[in-house]
Amino acid sequence: MIEFDHVTKKYSDGTTAVNSLTMKIKEGEFLVLIGPSGCGKTTTLKMINRLIGLTEGTISINGKKISDYNIHELRWNIGYVLQQIALFPHMTIEENISIVPELKKWKRYKVEKRVSELLEMVGLEPDKYRSRKPGELSGGQQQRVGVVRALAADPEIILMDEPFSALDPISREKLQGDLADLQKRIKKTIVFVTHDMQEALKLGSRICIMNEGEMVQLGTPEEIIQNP
Ligand code: ADP
Ligand code: ADP
Repeated sequence: MIEFDHVTKKYSDGTTAVNSLTMKIKEGEFLVLIGPSGCGKTTTLKMINRLIGLTEGTISINGKKISDYNIHELRWNIGYVLQQIALFPHMTIEENISIVPELKKWKRYKVEKRVSELLEMVGLEPDKYRSRKPGELSGGQQQRVGVVRALAADPEIILMDEPFSALDPISREKLQGDLADLQKRIKKTIVFVTHDMQEALKLGSRICIMNEGEMVQLGTPEEIIQNP
């Protein structure tokens, strides 16, 4: 479980990006953060894996403050998918996916097996794609690799920052479907940022609507639809 307790983030220029945010994200839940540009979604996400620090309040994961975790321990347990495709262009697909498993010193055969499993999960034939470079894949295929790379070492938590926004509508719809199916199988805690309500309603088990750094509504898709 991820727990925000009166979390505030003020940037050094004085901008209050997140203001006294309190919420609990349950284990295995797919939480969507939604709201207009600049409302603090990305800031909220980045505080969870300590990509940025918080100004006031506390964030805890499984009852332990994130500031008390060793930073590597924290980040290894949290997969992160960016808005932009962020594969290393000089590395093969297999090498890109293997980064965290390698850091964790997984055995070679285990890494290879995992890479095959993950590529299959998102419909990329392992033998055809593992040795290719990202440039030899379409945008949608690369983003698929970006998604499974975040899952590679079996993190408990996956953070996703508008992972599909750079894709064409058809790839986006396909990947949304894949992600929804994936979540049913892996049951990870996912925190997903978007500004697209359709996407939020399609994917979220709960939706947190933010505005100007504050949470204005938190509920299931059904609750959000009934109480707009
Ligand atoms: P969102 O993801 O909802 O678009 P952000 O979390 O990126 O919102 O930004 C929230 C607010 O904080 C915005 O006003 C943004 O301009 C500001 N902000 C974000 N990052 C920084 C930064 N590094 N320094 C100063 N202000 C920032
Ligand atoms: P998003 O698309 O999630 O709203 P942006 O593309 O606006 O994020 O911001 C990209 C990066 O720039 C983020 O890391 C954010 O923290 C930073 N950033 C956003 N607004 C500002 C700002 N006003 N000053 C400095 N950095 C900012």
